[in-house]
Amino acid sequence: MRILVTGAAGFLGSHLCDRLLAEGHEVVGMDNFLTGDPQNLAHLAGHPRFSFIRHDVTNFIFVPGKLDAVLHFASPASPNRKSPYGYPNLPIQTLKVGALGTHNTLGLAKAHGARFLLASTSEVYGDPEVHPQPETYWGKVNPIGERSVYDEAKRYAEAMTMAYHRYHGLDTRIVRIFNTYGPRMRLDDGRVIPNFIQQALRGEPLTVYGDGHQTRSFCYVDDLIEGIYRLLLSDEHEPVNIGNPAEFTILELAETVNRVVGNAAGVVFLESARDRDDPQRRCPDITKARKILGWQPHIDLEDGLRRTIADFQRRMQSQ
Ligand code: NAD
Ligand code: UDP
Repeated sequence: MRILVTGAAGFLGSHLCDRLLAEGHEVVGMDNFLTGDPQNLAHLAGHPRFSFIRHDVTNFIFVPGKLDAVLHFASPASPNRKSPYGYPNLPIQTLKVGALGTHNTLGLAKAHGARFLLASTSEVYGDPEVHPQPETYWGKVNPIGERSVYDEAKRYAEAMTMAYHRYHGLDTRIVRIFNTYGPRMRLDDGRVIPNFIQQALRGEPLTVYGDGHQTRSFCYVDDLIEGIYRLLLSDEHEPVNIGNPAEFTILELAETVNRVVGNAAGVVFLESARDRDDPQRRCPDITKARKILGWQPHIDLEDGLRRTIADFQRRMQSQ
C-alpha cells in the first residue's frame, strides 16, 4: 500500500512509519512540527519507500500520486499546561487539527478511494464513571474545561469519521489510544512518563500532581503499534480501545520509575499543577481488541520503562 501518515514527526507517527516501512509499504509522512521533531524521522532520510511533506493539515491537502490509506495522527497530545507543547497552550491549533485536519484528511481519503484510520483517545471518555472503559461507554466530558479543546476535538473527529463512513461509504477505522509511552517522546512534552524519567535521571524528586491516587494504564509503544496495524487490516469500522489494562496509581508509577532508575530522591506533591478535569481512573476494557484483532499487550511496565529510560539517557546526554 501507499500510505499517508499525518503527525509523522511525532512520537507515535514516527514509530508507525517505521512499522509500515518494515511491512513493505510505501509511506508519505506529513507534519508541521508543531509538537513533533524532525529528529524522529532523521533515520528515514534516503529510504527508498519514504517521503516527507511539511504541511499543516488544517489547510487543504494535496498529495501527488495514489494513496491506499490515510492514517490521521496529527494533534498535540500532552495535557500539561506547564509545557509549551501541552494542548492547554495550543488550544486553537488542537481544536483545528481535530476538526479541520480530520475533515481535510477524510476528504483526501475519499478523493483517493483510500481507507482511513483516525487516532482517537481515551480522553473521549473524560473523567469516566464506568470502569474499566468499554467502547460502548459514551463518557463524561466537561465541554468547556482545559481539556475540552482536545477531548471535544477528538469527539468531533470521531463523529466526522463515522459521518464519512455512513454517508460516503468511506472505509474507516477509529482507534481509541490509552496512555502510551516509549522512546522518542519529547523530553519536554510534560506527560507523566517523560517528566518522571527525566526527574529520576537527574536525581530529583518526582512531581506527583494531586495525591497520586489517580490511576492510568501504560502501554508500551511497540504493543500499541501492533494493535493499530491489526486494526488497519481488519474490517472494523466502530471504535476499538488499544491500551494496556494493567492499572497503576501515579504514586505506584513514581515508585517504579525511582526503583528502576535507582533514584533515592522520592516524590514531591504539587497540588496546584493538577487540572480540575484530570481523570481519576483510566483503564481500557480491551475485550473487543482481543476478540476481533486477537491482540493483547505483551510488554510490562518495568520492561517498557527500561527501554524508554535507555533512550532518554542517550538524548539527555547529547543535549
Ligand atoms: P506528538 O505530539 O508526539 O505527535 C503529534 C504530531 O502531530 C507532531 O509531530 C505534530 O507536529 C503534528 N501536528 C500537530 N498539528 C499538526 C498539523 N496541524 N499539521 C500537521 N502536523 C501536525 O503526540 P503523540 O503522542 O505521538 O500522539 C499522536 C496521536 O495519537 C495524536 O493524535 C494523539 O491525540 C493520539 N494519542 C496519543 C496518545 C499517547 O499516549 N501517546 C494517547 C491517545 C491518543
Ligand atoms: N502527572 C503527575 N506528574 C507529572 C505529570 C503528570 O503526577 O509530572 C499526572 C497527571 O496529573 C495525570 C497523570 O499523571 O493524573 C497522567 O498525566 P499525563 O500528562 O501523562 O496524561 P493524561 O493521562 O492525564 O492525559
